[in-house]
Amino acid sequence: MKKILITGAAGFLGSHLCDRFLKEGYQVIGMDNLITGDLKNLEHLFKNEHFEFYHHDVSTFVHVPGRLDYILHFASPASPIDYLKIPIQTLKVGSLGTHNLLGLARAKGARILIASTSEVYGDPLVHPQTEEYYGNVNTIGPRGVYDEAKRFQESITMAYHRYHGLETRIVRIFNTYGPRMRLNDGRVIPAFMGQALRGEDLTIFGDGSQTRSFCYVDDQVEGIYRLLLSDYVLPVNIGNPNEITIKDFAEEIIKLTGTDQKLTYRPLPQNDPLQRQPDISKAREILGWEPKVDRAEGMKKTFEYFRTLTSEELNKKEH
Ligand code: NAD
Ligand code: UDP
Repeated sequence: MKKILITGAAGFLGSHLCDRFLKEGYQVIGMDNLITGDLKNLEHLFKNEHFEFYHHDVSTFVHVPGRLDYILHFASPASPIDYLKIPIQTLKVGSLGTHNLLGLARAKGARILIASTSEVYGDPLVHPQTEEYYGNVNTIGPRGVYDEAKRFQESITMAYHRYHGLETRIVRIFNTYGPRMRLNDGRVIPAFMGQALRGEDLTIFGDGSQTRSFCYVDDQVEGIYRLLLSDYVLPVNIGNPNEITIKDFAEEIIKLTGTDQKLTYRPLPQNDPLQRQPDISKAREILGWEPKVDRAEGMKKTFEYFRTLTSEELNKKEH
C-alpha cells in the first residue's frame, strides 16, 4: 500500500485530496495546524483505518515515522483576506514549510508535489497565461506575501530537483471552487453564496469588469492526481479556461440561487488582478487532462453544499 502525506489536509483542497487518495487505495496521513482549515472537512475519515491526522505546523520541523512514498504540500492560507490577516505565517509556510517538506521528501526518498498558484503570474500582462510567462508581481504589495512565498516555493523545489535529484512536481492552480470552501474566507464564491443565502446584496469589488476562470474541485483533483503520477517536472497550469467577469458571475449566482438580490459596489483591493485565464495546452498534452464539469453544474453542486449550512453558521462573522 502506497503511503502519502497531505499537508493542509483540513482545508478545502487538502480534504478532497485525502478522499481521492484513500479511494485510490493509499494510506493517507493528513497534516494541518487548523489556522484556516476545519476538522469538520475530515470528520468523515476519522473511522477509516487507512487515515491518520497529525495536528502540526509545517513551518516547524516535520517528523513522520516510517516509510513515505509521496508528499502533497498544500498547507498555506489561500484567500486574500486570510493571507492579509496572517502575512508572516503565509510567508513562512511557503518558504520554511516548503523547505521542511522537501527535506522530509529527501530523507524518505519520496516524490513531492507542491501547490503553486496562478498568483505567481501576479496581475498578468500576458493573456491567457502560459507556464512560460514570468509574471507581473508587486513584491511589496499586500498580495506579495502570498505571491512571493509561492514563487520562492517553486524556486526551492526546482533547486532540490536539480541539486539533489529529488522527484518533484509543481501544479499552478487557478481559482478552484466547490463544497467545503469556508463560508467566510472572503473568496468570491463563498462571499456571494453567503450573501445570497442571508438575503444581502452581492458585493462587487471595483466595477466588476475583472475576470476569473473557475475550476470545479473534482476536475482540479483529477489534474493534480495525474500530474503527481506523471514524469513531468516543470510547472503545469490546472484550471478551467472558461473566463467570466465578476459582474456577470454575480448575476449568474443571483439566477442560480433564485434570490432577487442587487449588486453593491466596493473599492477594488490593491493589486487585484484584472484578468486571469489559464492556458491549459500543457496539461492537455502531457496529462491528457481537461476540465469536465461546466460552471452551471459545478455551481449547482456548490450551492447545494452552502444550502446545508445552519443559520448560525451562515450568520457567524469571522472577520
Ligand atoms: P484552505 O485555506 O482551505 O486550506 C489550507 C489549509 O492549510 C488549511 O487547512 C490550513 O489550516 C492549513 N495550513 C496553513 N498553514 C499551515 C501550516 N503552517 N501548517 C499546517 N497547516 C497549515 O485553502 P485551499 O483553497 O484548500 O488551498 C490549498 C492550497 O492550494 C494552498 O497551498 C493554496 O495556496 C493552493 N491554491 C488554492 C487555490 C484555490 O483556488 N483553492 C488556487 C491556487 C492555489
Ligand atoms: N470579489 C468581489 N466581491 C467579493 C469578493 C471578491 O468582487 O465579495 C472579487 C475580487 O476583487 C477578485 C475576484 O472577485 O477580483 C476573485 O476574488 P477571490 O478572492 O475569490 O480570488 P483571487 O482574487 O485570488 O482570484
